[in-house]
Amino acid sequence: MTTVPAASTHWVVRMNYRNRSASWLFVVAVLGVHFRDIGLGTGAWVPMLAQFVVYPHVVYLRARRAKDPLAAEIQNMLLDNFCFGLWAAALGFPLWIGYMLIICGCINVTAFRAGKGAVQALAAAALGAALTVAVTGWRFTPDTSLLVSALSMGCLTTYLVLFARGAHTRTVVLANTRAQLRQSQAQLQSQLQAVQSLQAQLTEQANRDPLTGLYNRRYLNTALPRELDASAGAGLPLAVLLMDLDHFKLINDRLGHAAGDDVLCQVAALLLEGTRANDICCRYGGEEFLLVLPGMALDAALARAQAFRQKVADRQWCADGQPVAVTLSVGVACTLGAALSPAALIDRADRALYQAKAEGRNRVSAARPAPAGGADAVASPTSPAP
Ligand code: GH3
Ligand code: MG
Ligand code: MG
Repeated sequence: MTTVPAASTHWVVRMNYRNRSASWLFVVAVLGVHFRDIGLGTGAWVPMLAQFVVYPHVVYLRARRAKDPLAAEIQNMLLDNFCFGLWAAALGFPLWIGYMLIICGCINVTAFRAGKGAVQALAAAALGAALTVAVTGWRFTPDTSLLVSALSMGCLTTYLVLFARGAHTRTVVLANTRAQLRQSQAQLQSQLQAVQSLQAQLTEQANRDPLTGLYNRRYLNTALPRELDASAGAGLPLAVLLMDLDHFKLINDRLGHAAGDDVLCQVAALLLEGTRANDICCRYGGEEFLLVLPGMALDAALARAQAFRQKVADRQWCADGQPVAVTLSVGVACTLGAALSPAALIDRADRALYQAKAEGRNRVSAARPAPAGGADAVASPTSPAP
């Protein structure tokens, strides 16, 4: 009866089980012929069959059930050698049979415990032999018939070939596993890149206004504090331009919402045309845009606002195929070297924008800081409406 090794069993336990079950049948044949040659009767067959036919199953089951199957299997291998010592001595140390058994046992343990294993295996065999000699007395009949010698060589060869085949199989399995690991690693890497690029796309989408493609207020909420800190750290000013299209509701009312959208997109594109690499261009609200100008002082920001206002006012607008007049008002505020919160800076720009609207629209107003201790003041419009 041959039990099929369970796949969950430790591979060393499975391999030794297969090797013992197969190659020890060969040993049975060798010993059977030797028994006949030296005239041993069926009484000798019982322990021989117990050792070489039953024993492999018993030690396999023991190792399978052990808490540490590998340690149990190494004990099994040492037990093999002990038994080989018993048999070698009991048979009077037949040269080929003893060599075949003990060298196989030594190779087996050496494969797992190196030189230390070889010494342990030899010691176990010597112990077995010594025990037999102590019980039955010393006998030395090293000769075997030609047939037994040839069978022993065949048995040894079979064992070595099986052993080498096992080593080859493990090498192939190892190489395949490594290749699979490399493949999985490459797949994981490409999946990671895909996730990262998707993440970047999502972040970009979350920070953009879907209509105009400009940054949205959500992005401004993180970018403005960062820019203010950087400017303050570098001792540089930072200006913001808050722009609002004049009477935009009328455009919607007269030409329709699609035309209004078209105007918003065109204004956004025009705004982007003139921006520097580190300027931040946002759609602040419905028809409001906010431009963050890091490193720009108030005068330069006013000139910039003025130029843009003029550009918008001078342009021949056509929204959704229909001519339309577009103007905008701008409120400008600057940090002027003072430490200002983002909200305070935008609030100044908002008040300046309110001023520009109040004074007739299509103009630029600047928020100038009031004298120390006083409230901020809004300066007179720098460009009266034409
Ligand atoms: P003011 O000069 O005082 O700014 O007048 P206004 O008409 O521009 O301002 P108001 O706040 O009265 O109206 C703003 C309009 O902008 C109302 C709203 O319908 C429109 N609007 C807001 N967002 C969008 C949008 O995404 N598309 C379009 N087409 N219109 C929008
Ligand atoms: Mg508005
Ligand atoms: Mg408006």
